[in-house]
Amino acid sequence: MSSFATRKCVRHTEREAVARCPSCGGDFCRECIVEHDGRVLCATCLAKTVATTGAAKPSAAWLPRSGDVAVTAACVLLLWVAFYGFGQFLKALPPQLHEGTVWREALDNPGHGETP
Ligand SMILES: [Zn+2]
Ligand SMILES: [Zn+2]
Repeated sequence: MSSFATRKCVRHTEREAVARCPSCGGDFCRECIVEHDGRVLCATCLAKTVATTGAAKPSAAWLPRSGDVAVTAACVLLLWVAFYGFGQFLKALPPQLHEGTVWREALDNPGHGETP
């Protein structure tokens, strides 16, 4: 049996654990353990702590600020107007302008009424 001194990281079984997370009790390697607020935590517990306490960021930080909302709305409106206007522009074009069908029709039917 191996000794208790060689504890392994719960995430990296090949790495030696350097610290134990006081929150979940798991052993973690140097890469997985994070020092936060004067104590060590694993990355998972640190994320939970930050999420619950909201120390790092306010809970509504993912929401855009009011100014951003206005800018986003303006951009969406501008895009919509641009696409709508482009569609109206295409509709307003007379069909004869597309690919010069006027000329093609004239070439396909060369003077049928020219019989004497
Ligand atoms: Zn933990
Ligand atoms: Zn690890």
